Amino acid sequence: MDDCIFCKIANGEIPSTFLYEDDLVCAFRDLNPQAPTHVLVVPKAHYANIVDGVPAETLAAMVKAVDSVATQEGIRDTGFRVIANTGKDAGQTVHHLHWHVIGGTNMGERLA
Ligand code: AMP
Repeated sequence: MDDCIFCKIANGEIPSTFLYEDDLVCAFRDLNPQAPTHVLVVPKAHYANIVDGVPAETLAAMVKAVDSVATQEGIRDTGFRVIANTGKDAGQTVHHLHWHVIGGTNMGERLA
């Protein structure tokens, strides 16, 4: 999609370092990390959010990417969060589906 920053990162138009990549998804570090590990898992095709008709195959690829990122970052066993901000009330600012993989610190029990 024109003018979508994550489309441009995913298709290589904007250079980035991928921690994980396959045919359907990529993962790269968040520009403004909120924790020691803060990685974004992003489908290469454009979906506005998690309820935008994302194919099961793409969701499965995203889960595989989360597993890979968590393993690489050494947080697969200590724990991490996967967050998909969706819409205005959740503060979604980039309208291309992405999962935040956040960890490397004790985040406590509070979610919101
Ligand atoms: P959200 O509020 O869920 O839409 O989060 C969007 C996230 O994308 C924020 O955490 C930003 O820091 C991050 N972000 C925006 N532009 C970039 C970029 N060029 N590279 C990496 N992360 C980005």
